[in-house]
Amino acid sequence: MVEPGDSGRIAEPSLAAPSLAAPSPYDDVLDVAERHARAWVSGIRERPIPPRLGTDEVKERLGRDLPESGEPATEVLDLLAEASEPGLMAMGSPRFYGWVIGGTQPVALAADWIVSAWDQNTGLRVVTPAVVAVEELAGEWLVDLLGLPAGSEVGFVTGATMAQFTCMAAGRDEVLRRAGWDAETQGLAGGPKVRFIAGEERHGTNDLAARYLGLGSPIVVPSDEQGRIRVDELERTLAEGTGPAIVLLQAGNIHSGAYDDFTAAIRVAHAAGAWVHVDGAFGLWAAASPKLQHLVAGMDDADSWSSDAHKTLSVPYDCGLAIVRDPKAMHRAMSMHASYLQATDVGADPHEKAPELSRRARGVPTWAVLRTMGRTGVAALVEQLSDAASGIAEGVGRLPGVEVLNEVVFTQVCIALEDDAATEALSERLWDEGEVLAMTSRWHDRAVVRFSVSNWQTDAAQVRRTVDAVERALAAVRAGG
Ligand SMILES: *Cc1c(COP(=O)(O)O)cnc(C)c1O
Repeated sequence: MVEPGDSGRIAEPSLAAPSLAAPSPYDDVLDVAERHARAWVSGIRERPIPPRLGTDEVKERLGRDLPESGEPATEVLDLLAEASEPGLMAMGSPRFYGWVIGGTQPVALAADWIVSAWDQNTGLRVVTPAVVAVEELAGEWLVDLLGLPAGSEVGFVTGATMAQFTCMAAGRDEVLRRAGWDAETQGLAGGPKVRFIAGEERHGTNDLAARYLGLGSPIVVPSDEQGRIRVDELERTLAEGTGPAIVLLQAGNIHSGAYDDFTAAIRVAHAAGAWVHVDGAFGLWAAASPKLQHLVAGMDDADSWSSDAHKTLSVPYDCGLAIVRDPKAMHRAMSMHASYLQATDVGADPHEKAPELSRRARGVPTWAVLRTMGRTGVAALVEQLSDAASGIAEGVGRLPGVEVLNEVVFTQVCIALEDDAATEALSERLWDEGEVLAMTSRWHDRAVVRFSVSNWQTDAAQVRRTVDAVERALAAVRAGG
């Protein structure tokens, strides 16, 4: 481009954005999408939480047959939104406590829209430098914020399940390498067996990750009354065998919120030469709070950590975090090379930190949230969730006949009534009223109603509404209603 008035030399390419004024085929559909999205997010705090229609009913509303000829895109979007709306669960409600889900912070939703519009296939840094920059900064900030060893590598994956898979793949190959076996070229058959050792109250998705990795079922170590792995039993289990091992520890039990004793457990695991992975899908975030980081003391000595940004940090689904201390171990497990890919140095490209080659730039909303909240904002969010859990335990625990079963150390509260039938009736009653959603589970051979606090809008006022709703539901259960 020749700049007017200069000496005719070729100017640097302009870094300014092109004009936004030109009409485009995206305008109408984005307007419709925005209208529906705004309606959903603005109603989320007050609408009844459970879906009112099931899958089959929504299919009927959508129409089951593939149309022969097309329809206008704006009408398709209207149909999608209107037919689906009664079948949506208000997971972003500040009184949604069923499972650890997390809501969506406004800036994260907006950044996610931009990610879709940019549509960058985020495998290679020379190809999509901007989103790699954003994700790498987010990764470095996360390592810092979570108190993990500087230089640890971060992969953005779909969720904690795949983060566990990614981290344990690095661990599996590394412990085999130390035993003189190259799993990347030789596979597993014929090599030493890798013992996968985990606590009784691990999250079930770790078994999935181990299964995908050919490790089989875990050797199970008993847990204590809060669900923490028993370190004496772990030591005994490690001593019963030899050879490569992966030890799974947990930051945040889904029933109690309890944290394993990392200092002691990592010491015995490392003494036996094991790779230590920490499942911190939601619990890892305690590390971001000066008040709560005592819960994760010693955790930074592990070899890898998995977490979710779509839970505690409240970015839209999906975003999991796979974090590995030794970047080389991660790259060896995840890299591939092909002549048509413009690779940089080994280990520099996003696809070497995740199972996928092609993927969306899912780390971008995480960057936007971290930048918007800052270090103190994230700490405040984590403390708010933990305070809300304490508030629920206190308020609900005062109601007659309600027993709080766990030590409430973080965001999880488990309650029970005098028998399983009454406990289950309480949860059903809450579902029917729709103001609060908390699901049943079984813990220590008892039906429980579990409150998982993981929404950025759950504050003291929401806690009061929650306790009131539980009180109403309890009265209805007692009245036999
Ligand atoms: C949610 C959760 C997982 C699985 O995470 P996904 O994001 O659903 O894959 C694993 N471990 C714990 C402790 C969890 O809470």
